[in-house]
Amino acid sequence: MTEKDTNKAHTNSSVKHKAEESGENIDPIYISEQQFDRAARYIVDLKKGLVDFLKKPKRITTVNFPIELDDGSVMSFTGYRVIHNRVFGPGKGGIRFHPEVTWEEVVSLAKLMTWKCALVNIPFGGAKGGVVCDPKSLSEGELRRITRRFTSELFDVIGPYKDIPAPDLYTSEQTMAWIYDTYDILNPGYNNRPVVTGKPVEMGGSYGRIDATGNGSVYATERFLSKALLPDRLEIAGARIVIQGFGDVGAVAAKAFCRRGGCIIAVSDSQGGIYREEGLDPDKVEQFKAEHGTVVGMPDTMSITNTELLELECDILMPAALGNQIHGGNANNVKAKLVVEAANNPTTPQADDILHQKGILVLPDILVNAGGVTVSYYEWVQNQANEQWDPEEITDKLKTKMYKAVDEVFKRWQSFVVGEEPLTKDGKAMAQESQPPDFRTIALIIAIERVTRATLMRGIWP
Ligand code: NAD
Repeated sequence: MTEKDTNKAHTNSSVKHKAEESGENIDPIYISEQQFDRAARYIVDLKKGLVDFLKKPKRITTVNFPIELDDGSVMSFTGYRVIHNRVFGPGKGGIRFHPEVTWEEVVSLAKLMTWKCALVNIPFGGAKGGVVCDPKSLSEGELRRITRRFTSELFDVIGPYKDIPAPDLYTSEQTMAWIYDTYDILNPGYNNRPVVTGKPVEMGGSYGRIDATGNGSVYATERFLSKALLPDRLEIAGARIVIQGFGDVGAVAAKAFCRRGGCIIAVSDSQGGIYREEGLDPDKVEQFKAEHGTVVGMPDTMSITNTELLELECDILMPAALGNQIHGGNANNVKAKLVVEAANNPTTPQADDILHQKGILVLPDILVNAGGVTVSYYEWVQNQANEQWDPEEITDKLKTKMYKAVDEVFKRWQSFVVGEEPLTKDGKAMAQESQPPDFRTIALIIAIERVTRATLMRGIWP
């Protein structure tokens, strides 16, 4: 267990509390349905039965299982694996270990995976999993036994062509190695490597997987800026950037922004943030965090709170930590020109409305952080042939994929702007709409349409 994961667990509930204080309903299923409904209004001929099918998960598996603790006692755990949709291929999504895992949260994250894979044209469906446990209080041996037992309970559910897990909160490449090993022991005589992605490179993991989400988010940002929607900001060079969360995603993104001439003026972790008007050196911040367990207190920087960080004047604000960070209670104070969602679900629907009204553009999670599942897919492909592609090849493919997805979202947005695509539903103008939908809605329209078309092309069985 790393310190950063522990911090994440501690802060999750307090953040939820703040969003709820503003009177907002942040139930994960409610939020995912609100986002879906916003997009569905623009999709012609989306029949009610299909809406129900697309909103609900295909299957929720709940398992209860015991493991023996180090002191010889026995403890029982509950785990979930949800497959939301498998129209495009096997389920794909992470497994998290966390005391606050609920089936509702797992369902909402599985849905996000369906839309993400469809948006970047990855032939996977959406899935997610979790075990309700407190990894901070468990030894490595106990975590290994939980992982192995959970994998064995899911033996009929997961598989290289059924459902492919990956790391998530509190799970790592080590967890993936245990999942692979367990599955392989239970299913000998086959190439079982593609049963799980995010494995260690020595065990069939892909080069570039760890950096994929952070790098992918920067490719998405630079491509988007080149579209000139922020007239005085056509490239990353010179942009003033704020990043919430300095973990696997945030730190990699900070370095990639810097390499392109961006100026990182503030970063944070669960303990708080640091600000430096002249810009921070992400390598030095990383070194400081490795030594001190937090970015806070780094010499020559000013300490700020996470609340202050989100409200800093900047060109780009990148949430790269937890969900529900920008909500009805603080969205009015956001002063960034562009919000780039590297985290999953960092902006609530109420905040989306406020930012939209303020003219602050939001690049949505299903677009921005799709680099992770993209390279997971490359890992899965490499595993089929027992190949290992060069890092440069992965980088080129990832960049092309992210650029294309941004281009598609932008093109669709333009079709609303120039009136090619009327703001209609079933042919009737939606008079109340005066401006094009936001980019989250556009991205969801594309993804939902793709999944719907594929569903109908396959045909409703029988
Ligand atoms: P991580 O655990 O490596 O890093 C998270 C960082 O956020 C840590 O630095 C932690 O200290 C910080 N943090 C925790 N609470 C905070 C708070 N209240 N304020 C500010 N910072 C806080 O996780 P990660 O892999 O970098 O993931 C970050 C986000 O990106 C998550 O929402 C995750 O679901 C999403 N995501 C990750 C990937 C991936 O491939 N890693 C892919 C898609 C989406």
